[in-house]
Amino acid sequence: MGVTLDLSRAPAQPLAPPLAKPALANLTGLSRTELAQALVEAEVVRPDKAKMRASQLWRWMHHYGVTDFAQMTDVAKETRAALAETFTLARPEVVERQVSKDGTRKWLIRMAPGIEVETVYIPDVGRAGALCVSSQVGCTLNCTFCHTGTQALVRNLTAAEIVAQVQIARDDLEEWPSPKEDRRLSNIVFMGMGEPLYNLDHVAQAIDIIADNEGIAISRRRITVSTSGVVPQLEALGTRTQTMLAISLHATNDELREKLVPLNRKYPLAELMAGIRAYPGLSNARRVTFEYVMLKGVNDSPAEAKALVQLLKGIPAKINLIPFNKWPGSEYECSDWKTIEAFAAILNRAGYASPIRTPRGRDILAACGQLKSESEKLRASARRKLDAPQDAP
Ligand code: SAH
Ligand code: SF4
Repeated sequence: MGVTLDLSRAPAQPLAPPLAKPALANLTGLSRTELAQALVEAEVVRPDKAKMRASQLWRWMHHYGVTDFAQMTDVAKETRAALAETFTLARPEVVERQVSKDGTRKWLIRMAPGIEVETVYIPDVGRAGALCVSSQVGCTLNCTFCHTGTQALVRNLTAAEIVAQVQIARDDLEEWPSPKEDRRLSNIVFMGMGEPLYNLDHVAQAIDIIADNEGIAISRRRITVSTSGVVPQLEALGTRTQTMLAISLHATNDELREKLVPLNRKYPLAELMAGIRAYPGLSNARRVTFEYVMLKGVNDSPAEAKALVQLLKGIPAKINLIPFNKWPGSEYECSDWKTIEAFAAILNRAGYASPIRTPRGRDILAACGQLKSESEKLRASARRKLDAPQDAP
C-alpha cells in the first residue's frame, strides 16, 4: 500500500531530526592502561605518547578533579579540543542534596534516567570522615530488615559510576586537589545500596582508581567492603583489592540468619566462617569487622552475645553493633538502649572495644539500610495512593 506525503504542509525544519550525536565516552572509570588505549583508538594521541598523555590526564582527573579538558593547561590546545570532541569527564547529576544537623551529607545521584543511587558522607568516622558508597542500584538479596532490599529495580553500577560518587563528595566538600593530609574524606565504606560482591569486577576497578597514589589516593587499608556473605567471592575480593572486609552477620545460628539474611541458605554460617578465616591478609592489624544489627527481641539476648563471642573465637575481629534503623513499613523494632548496652558489655568483657555504632544522619534517613532512591519511594507512595480506596480516611 502506498503512502502519499503532503509535502506542502511540511514544516520548515527537516522532517526527521538530524541523527543524534553519539554520547561522548566518559573517561573517569578507565584504568591507566585502558585510558592510554582509548586515547590511541580515538586517534587523539600517537601510540608513542599514549602512556605519558594518560598520566597527565589521570592527574588532572583524579588529583585535581577537573571536569573540563580546557583546564588541562599542560596539554596542547588542539589536543584538548580533540579530547572534548570524543570524550567527557562530566559528573552524573546530583538530583538532591541533604545535610543533617550532625554534619552527615547525603546525595541522590542520577546515573542515567531512572537509575538513581544514594551516597552518604559521615563526619568523624574512620580517620576523619567516611563516605558510604553504593555498588548497585537496589539489591537482589532481600534481607528482611533492609530497605534497599525492597527496591525492585536492580542493576550493577559501572566503575565510573562508583568513582563518580567519590568525586561528587569531593566536589561538595571542596577537597580538590586531593590533599595528602587533613582530609575530610579519609575512608570509604561499601555499605550503601547493593551487594558489592555481586559486582566485584566494577568494584575492584573503582577501588584501583580511588586508591591510586597519583589520584584520589585513599589507601586500601581505609577502604572497607561490606558483604552479606557471598563466600565464593571472598578470596577474590582480598587478592584483587587488598581492602578491609566487613561481614553482615546479624545472627549466630543458621535458623535465624536464614530469616534475616536469606543468602545464608546458600552459604551457611560454617562455610561463611571458614571463608572469613581464609581471607587474604587477615591479621591483628587488619581485622574483619562484623556488623550486627540490633533487632528487638530477635537477636539481642545476652545468650546471643555470648554465642557471638564463641563464633568469632580465633578470628582477628572488630564488632559493630548497629542500632536498627527503622523505615516505613519495616516489621522490626530497634532493641532498647539498655539491651544494646548489656549486649555490648558482654562483648567488651571478651575484649571487643566500644562496639555500638552511633546513629548518624537520622533526620535525613541517611543511615545504613535506609537508602533507597527517592524516585523509587515516590513511585511507591504514588502507587499506594492509587491503590487506596477513594473514601479512605
Ligand atoms: N549489601 C552489603 C552492603 C550494604 S548494607 C551488606 O549487606 O553487607 C550495609 C550494612 O547495613 C549491612 O551490615 C546491613 O546489614 C546494614 N543494614 C541494612 N539495613 C539496615 C537497617 N535498616 N538498620 C541498620 N542496619 C542495616
Ligand atoms: Fe542487600 Fe545488604 Fe540490604 Fe541485604 S543488607 S538487602 S545484602 S543491601
